[in-house]
Amino acid sequence: MKLIDGKQISASLKEALKEQVATFPARYGRVPHLVVVRVGEDPASVVYVRNKAKACEACGIRNTTIVLDETIPEEALLDKIHALNADDSVDGILVQLPLPKHLSEAKVIETIAREKDVDGFHPYNVAGLWQKTPHMSPCTPKGIMKLLEAEGIDPKGKRAVVIGRSNIVGLPVAKMLLDANATVTLCHTRTVNLPEVTRQADILVVAAGRAKMVTADMVADGCIVVDVGMDRDPDTGKLCGDVDFDAVAPKAGAITPVPGGVGPMTIACLMENTVECFLQRQ
Ligand code: NAD
Repeated sequence: MKLIDGKQISASLKEALKEQVATFPARYGRVPHLVVVRVGEDPASVVYVRNKAKACEACGIRNTTIVLDETIPEEALLDKIHALNADDSVDGILVQLPLPKHLSEAKVIETIAREKDVDGFHPYNVAGLWQKTPHMSPCTPKGIMKLLEAEGIDPKGKRAVVIGRSNIVGLPVAKMLLDANATVTLCHTRTVNLPEVTRQADILVVAAGRAKMVTADMVADGCIVVDVGMDRDPDTGKLCGDVDFDAVAPKAGAITPVPGGVGPMTIACLMENTVECFLQRQ
C-alpha cells in the first residue's frame, strides 16, 4: 500500500507558486489579491477561512478576509460582491459556504464576476467544465486529479467509481475522470448494492460525508482510494474520512489519509486558481 501524501504534494505546489508570484512585482507591479468573504461564525468556516489566509501568506499572495454579520440582508451581501467585482485591485473572490439559510447561495455565486471566480462555481465556469471550453476548475476535484497525476496514476482505461454527486465534488470529479479517459460510475444514496459497484473500481473517490462508510469488503485488492470526506469519528470525536482507513489501507494499492490527503490539495489549488485569475486579468 502506498500512502498518498497530500500534505507534501500540496507543499511543493505552493512552493512553485511562491516562486512564480515572487516574479510578479517586477513584471506586473503587484501580486495577486484574493478576497475571502465569511458570513457569520460557523466554526468550520472560521477554520477554513483562516487556513486560506495562511496559504496566501505562504505563497506571497495578498489576502483580505471580510467578515460579515450573519444577519446581513441578501441585498447588502450582493452589493458587497458587486463592489469587489468592480475593484481592480481584486483578482479572486471567494464567499465561504455554507451561507446562513436566508441567503441564496446560487444568487451569491452568480453575482461573483466569472473572471474572479476562484472557486469555479459560477455557472459560466461549470458550463466550461462540461463543454470543454476555457474555465476555472473547482478546487477539490482539481486537487484530486493533481494527486493522481503526482502519483503517476493515469485514469485512462481504468474503472473509476465516485461516491457522491454534489456540485462541488462528486459531479465535477466524475467529469474530470471521464475527460482523463476513465470509465466512470457515479454513485449516490439511491444506488442499489453499492459494495458490488465499488468492488469494480480501479480508482474509488469517496465524497459522501459519512464517517468511515467505505469498509474493507467494498474495495478490490489494489484499488486506488481517494477519501474526500471530512467527518467526525462518532467514537472518538476526531477528524476522519469517509473511508475506514485502518481496515481499507491494507487492501488498497494507494490511499489518501484524512487529514493530510485531499484537504491540503484543495487549498493549494485555490492558490493556483488565484494566480490564474490574476494572470488572465493582466
Ligand atoms: P454533499 O452532502 O453535498 O453530497 C454528498 C453526496 O454523497 C450526495 O450526492 C449523496 O447522494 C451521497 N451520499 C451520501 N451518503 C451516501 C451513502 N450512504 N451512499 C451513497 N452515497 C451517499 O457533500 P459534499 O459537499 O460533496 O462533501 C462530501 C464530503 O467531502 C464531506 O465530508 C465534506 O466535508 C468533504 N469535503 C472535503 C473537501 C476537502 O477539501 N477535503 C472539500 C469539499 C467537501
